[in-house]
Amino acid sequence: MADLFARFAALEEGRALLQRLGVNPLGVCMEETPSATEAVIDGRRTILVGTNNYLGLSFDPGCIAAAREALERQGTGSTGSRVANGTYAGHRAVERTLARLYDRRAALLFTTGYQANLGVLSALAGPKDTVLIDADSHACIYDGCRLSGATVIRFRHNDPADLDRRLGRLDRSGGGNVLVVVEGIYSMLGDRAPIGELVEVKRRHGAALIVDEAHSFGVFGPKGRGVAEESGVGREVDLIVGTFSKSVGTVGGFCVSDDPRLELLRMVSRPYMFTASLPPAVVAAAQAALERIEAGDDLRARLWRNIERLHRGLAALGLRSIAPPGPVIALRVEGLERLLTFWGALLRAGVYVNLAMPPATPAGVHLLRCSVSAAHTEEQLDQVCTAFAEVARGLGEDLAGAA
Ligand code: PMP
Repeated sequence: MADLFARFAALEEGRALLQRLGVNPLGVCMEETPSATEAVIDGRRTILVGTNNYLGLSFDPGCIAAAREALERQGTGSTGSRVANGTYAGHRAVERTLARLYDRRAALLFTTGYQANLGVLSALAGPKDTVLIDADSHACIYDGCRLSGATVIRFRHNDPADLDRRLGRLDRSGGGNVLVVVEGIYSMLGDRAPIGELVEVKRRHGAALIVDEAHSFGVFGPKGRGVAEESGVGREVDLIVGTFSKSVGTVGGFCVSDDPRLELLRMVSRPYMFTASLPPAVVAAAQAALERIEAGDDLRARLWRNIERLHRGLAALGLRSIAPPGPVIALRVEGLERLLTFWGALLRAGVYVNLAMPPATPAGVHLLRCSVSAAHTEEQLDQVCTAFAEVARGLGEDLAGAA
């Protein structure tokens, strides 16, 4: 008999370590979620600082009311793909809203952000093309490249000079397209891409630029379009990809472009064609959230006040984030065992942060990853800092050494 699970033997070691330390990151279950920033975990009321719910819109009364109405009027699911039987008026309306929000001619909705990257990259790149991606790219960018069959070249993280060198070395005699793919801010480290410089490089080499604004949409830029907008070069980006699973507070993915031929992806992009479309309630929640993002920047202003507060509070403890203040505050902890112990103690102290380690992070990088929300109260953020300080004291940790 084939032993299908034998390939995971090495993982057993990791599981044994978790058992010995008494932590179970994959076992975290939110038994109740009374608000965007709190859950009951293991029967304990816990402050959530690891949700990506940057604007707190998952609990926005307008989004909930819109979702409820759609649920009652249109049912629980579309039960089909956009191509076959799953396009509802709501899907089209969200696409129009996204195009307007980004001031682009075309927008395409996907079922998740993961699928948006898969769908865009696999459709726009093929075996004759070359895709250059930042080495720290999210798994779905890697997977999208793989699905495309293109030649994939990684360039050094956030290093336009390295990109320039690699583009300069390309043999372009085959005539294929060259695409560069980066993220607005990187999900684990929280650092920003130097989009202005990347745009100059891509222009010099006649390449196209795709920016995944998953963690920056709704957070950066005067209209909340992301880091490309904030950098003043939004229009130079050929295609923007995003997700509804973070600042929009629900689930879904999208891409926008000024090229009306983006529409053609509906006929060729397999991750668009061969999966069910988003359910009406999700679409309605996303529509309400997009309108909320479009309408004003009060939520963004609140988020940025919270970012500054948590950043300052943690820095005062000697915990310095890897990146400048932003919605993701990543704190480096040397050693896996130390990281797991710290994370488990924080959870027992009523604070949930993300545990980030390879392969989600670069090799050898272990992080306590916090994400800030506009919905956090000042008291909650202060409690988070107190918990960090108490946990460190309890573990005999020198916090300055942890960062
Ligand atoms: N792109 C990036 C940069 C991400 O961090 C993520 C999710 N963490 C995704 C895409 C996938 O988004 P979704 O959760 O909507 O599938």
